[in-house]
Amino acid sequence: MRSEPVIPNAELPPGTRIQPAECETHGAYEQKVFPLLGKELKSGCPECGRKIREEAEEAERANKAMELHMAMERKLGAALIPKRFVSKTLDGYVATTLEQRKALNTCRRYAAEFLQIAESGRCLLLLGKPGTGKTHLSVAIANEIMATTTATAVYRTVGAILQSIRASYDRATEQTESQILSSLISPSLLILDEIGVSKEKPSDFELTTLFAIINGRYEEQRPTIIVSNLSAQALPDAIGERCVDRLREGGVIVQPFEWESQRGKEGF
Ligand SMILES: [Zn+2]
Repeated sequence: MRSEPVIPNAELPPGTRIQPAECETHGAYEQKVFPLLGKELKSGCPECGRKIREEAEEAERANKAMELHMAMERKLGAALIPKRFVSKTLDGYVATTLEQRKALNTCRRYAAEFLQIAESGRCLLLLGKPGTGKTHLSVAIANEIMATTTATAVYRTVGAILQSIRASYDRATEQTESQILSSLISPSLLILDEIGVSKEKPSDFELTTLFAIINGRYEEQRPTIIVSNLSAQALPDAIGERCVDRLREGGVIVQPFEWESQRGKEGF
């Protein structure tokens, strides 16, 4: 656009004349010549002008795509999804049996209807045998909603949360306990993985922390996905009745994973 101001004929300044001109690339064109501040201003090749505009538009589009990509990268960085699961998608989940297809459909629907789900704070429990793809599907939901909506998601194992809170007591760490809790309560979706991995009874500290997170999200009406190898019957012992009550509010969705482990069948 710098070489050729496009001026409709009606607006041509007085004294404008038109003369034949030649573009090295595009050949003959009609050049407008008009006086300006004691000089003569000549219009450039319209084809070249169009090309320059197209290039500017293309650069603008690339810029916008880059900004979107960087926003997504920021969300992904904040999501703390483990490397092994970062690229997991709903389409990448291999569902061959009826049970597996049901589990996949539940997660697909949860992601597709996330904006409504986020309104009601409806939680999802992915419960059952290890090696059945629960973490894969939970992360796939997070990836899907981060890519298709403005929603944010955070993935954490219970063990990592407890460890970071304990560390915040001892030392001058970067984060205080309340900052850690608020980083778990503020995202649109929280995935809490590895609930009840230890066979021992949970400590008061563990129960209190879990309640602070789950109740904090409940009060903000934000949904949580719980991932656990425990059955629905065993869950209350691991997280406490109060937490289970909170999860039930808003109509929790329970998805069992009762088939045998698929690990080793995935080719490693
Ligand atoms: Zn040209």
